[in-house]
Amino acid sequence: MINFNAEKCTGCSVCLKVCPRHIIFLVNGKAQIKDNRDCLECGACMLNCGFDAIKVTKGTGCLYAIIKEDILKITPKGSGCGCGTGGSCC
Ligand code: SF4
Ligand code: SF4
Repeated sequence: MINFNAEKCTGCSVCLKVCPRHIIFLVNGKAQIKDNRDCLECGACMLNCGFDAIKVTKGTGCLYAIIKEDILKITPKGSGCGCGTGGSCC
């Protein structure tokens, strides 16, 4: 999961800049993620937020699916990793 604490978020935009996937946006001055499935779970947003407004835990996204869909482009977007666990793998 990735959770943004709107009360702590100041809208500084640091997380938007450090996210390698560019999936974080400001909505009404507060950070939000566009699609959890595109998250690499790299933790860069959480580590760089100076206001403790982000928590990233295992199971947020699927790196294997991203590699297949976006980098290798061997499966269509949104098809998942294909491991057969139905998203319960991590
Ligand atoms: S880095 Fe933290 S405070 Fe800044 S916009 Fe992102 S969540 Fe909000
Ligand atoms: S954990 Fe990494 S990929 Fe996921 S939203 Fe944060 S910076 Fe982006």
